Amino acid sequence: MRPDLFNPLFSSAESLTGIGPRLIVLLRKALKLPPGITEPRIVDLLWHLPTGVIDRRAEPTVASAVAGTIGTLKIRVLKHRAPPRGNIKAPYKISAEDDTGRIDLIFFHTDRRFIERQLPEGEIRYVSGRFERYGETLQMAHPDYIVEPERRHELPMLEPVYPLTAGLSPKILGKAQRQTIERFPELPEWQDPSWLAARGWPSAAEAVRRLHKPSDAADVSPGSLPWQRLAYDELLAGQLALGLVRDSVKSRAGRSTTGDGRMRARIAGALSFSLTASQRSALTEIADDMAAPTRMLRLLQGDVGSGKTIVALMAMAIAVEAGAQATLMAPTEVLARQHVETIAPLAEKAGLRIGLLTGREKGKTRKDVLQRLAAGEIDILIGTHALFQADVEFRDLAFVVIDEQHRFGVHQRLALQAKGGEHGVNVLVMTATPIPRTLLMTHYGDLDVSRLTEKPAGRKPVTTTLAATDRIEDIIDGLKRALAQGAQIYWVCPLIESSDVSELAAAEERHAHLAQFFGDKVGLLHGGMTGPAKDRTMEAFTKAELSVLVATTVIEVGVNVPNASIMVIEHAERFGLAQLHQLRGRVGRGSRQSFCVLLYKAPLGETARARLEMMRETEDGFLIAEKDLELRGGGEVLGARQSGMPEFRVANVPNFTDMLAAAHDDATMVLSSDPKLTSPRGQALRQLLYLFECDEAVRLFRAA
Ligand code: ADP
Ligand code: MG
Repeated sequence: MRPDLFNPLFSSAESLTGIGPRLIVLLRKALKLPPGITEPRIVDLLWHLPTGVIDRRAEPTVASAVAGTIGTLKIRVLKHRAPPRGNIKAPYKISAEDDTGRIDLIFFHTDRRFIERQLPEGEIRYVSGRFERYGETLQMAHPDYIVEPERRHELPMLEPVYPLTAGLSPKILGKAQRQTIERFPELPEWQDPSWLAARGWPSAAEAVRRLHKPSDAADVSPGSLPWQRLAYDELLAGQLALGLVRDSVKSRAGRSTTGDGRMRARIAGALSFSLTASQRSALTEIADDMAAPTRMLRLLQGDVGSGKTIVALMAMAIAVEAGAQATLMAPTEVLARQHVETIAPLAEKAGLRIGLLTGREKGKTRKDVLQRLAAGEIDILIGTHALFQADVEFRDLAFVVIDEQHRFGVHQRLALQAKGGEHGVNVLVMTATPIPRTLLMTHYGDLDVSRLTEKPAGRKPVTTTLAATDRIEDIIDGLKRALAQGAQIYWVCPLIESSDVSELAAAEERHAHLAQFFGDKVGLLHGGMTGPAKDRTMEAFTKAELSVLVATTVIEVGVNVPNASIMVIEHAERFGLAQLHQLRGRVGRGSRQSFCVLLYKAPLGETARARLEMMRETEDGFLIAEKDLELRGGGEVLGARQSGMPEFRVANVPNFTDMLAAAHDDATMVLSSDPKLTSPRGQALRQLLYLFECDEAVRLFRAA
């Protein structure tokens, strides 16, 4: 697939001198590898950009060297002075000189033979490191570099500093990086020359060199010209890829689905409320998409509780009215069951036949569902990932709704789409994550979007407070009072980066702690529990048999217990704002005044504080999301681990939003005049797609 000229870049990092199996393990930890990649490759090193530089360019004399500064010195080695026998604390000292004075080179706990080889008496050497003064004497302890005069060019006078991991030495990584840039292939220029000239941007190859082998310290920063150039490349590649995917989806014939409205009318008649204006306009947009002969790919965005489910049901009813089937896929079992509970009574009145398929439907139950599905006796199948399985066959699937899409990968979406057979199915993706416009563009391209902007009646504002974790006992006192008045409480435990096991341990610990105060009124809900156990706990909480529900983020999406009015979130600083917003949306659903307590671990950094303050100031999810984007930059807003969305490797730049908008316009323009990327610039842009591993997109125009 990928042209051979990229091979040097995409081969294993182990092919670099100095990188063996042990270092590969360390690199795996230190580098941000794209999803699905476990063996670090040279290209992964390439995008591992320095965070700063050590400037070794000062070349003072011994007499003019300033203590506390870093510099490079040409010296003559005079005499080795080993520490007295038996005194392991005393350093190994080497005295050296230049024409202006004396300096001591100091080594603690060192291998004597190594030093003798590096610094033979009487020889000239360049040493680079930090100058110190010890009494009257100038010293340098453990020089970073010691090189012979003939090899002086190997001394990195401006040494890039990379993010490391324990055990990975900066020297080894630096050496690997200097080889990495040699592997960068010769590629045609894909950017518009006048655009480059106007910005003063170098070629991609030069940009890579200037970042990894800087000759100007100012280049090593996300605002610098070479960095900006590569950030723009990455964004442009992403926008092109999305544009290509979208064009190919849209260009394939879809299926025009229209209904007579009879089931929708019955559903509407069964509702105890009338639809909001934005629900109605979303439905019109969806109905228009379904009726069009092209494939539908629409995102329905609406805050928690904005009433997406009913929109989904009405939309699915269109497919059924047209004589076909629809499916609704939820990210968790709990949610799938909740959807069934909401939908079943309405569906029954409308004459819609519902089925349920999750990992828990097994054996005869499962077989039965599959049979009825294939026979067309189920109109709407609700389920989880279990719907992807190959033996799940619809009689005639026309419409797919995916709830909380960001938890599913693109390939899963495609797998489900394939179940619609040659017609292709119309897809509606629903998310409660208030994704800012700019990010939608990055992750979905020009997806059609409907937004539910009003909250349904009856929702109350939530009072949000911030508190440091060391005030936890005060918080618990407050909870005691609230419980005495019949309140119910969610207590969400922190996310822990490293492993789910410790995440669970933290939740269990907090559960035990709270049980000391509230006894058996405290329940625990976590992702590792079996389906039935989760259901039992949720049910007990719904029935108010439990007053406090300690949970990991499994409750993040969709759970509805109106009497729960207090939400405590531990280590709130570790969550994305969008996530906090979703969690907070669990309360404020009943008649009680609701509270959200954001517990944080002090001290908070400036950005972290600003983010949490934002939560206190507003409940507008879109505003929160925009602000989060502004505070944290592009790649992190949704929390990569939760979202499964691609992270940027280079494009986490301060002016991300403007860059993205420009890349978006550029990509749109290119694809409108050169949809198959066949012009000279188009050919060059293909190389860009390979460089940033957008191979999927390339495959599309190959097939075309
Ligand atoms: P979400 O968008 O989070 O999935 P739901 O679809 O679960 O929201 O709706 C939340 C609640 O609001 C449900 O109880 C639903 O019946 C109710 N609801 C939906 N639409 C309206 C409306 N137009 N007026 C009043 N209540 C509504
Ligand atoms: Mg929902």
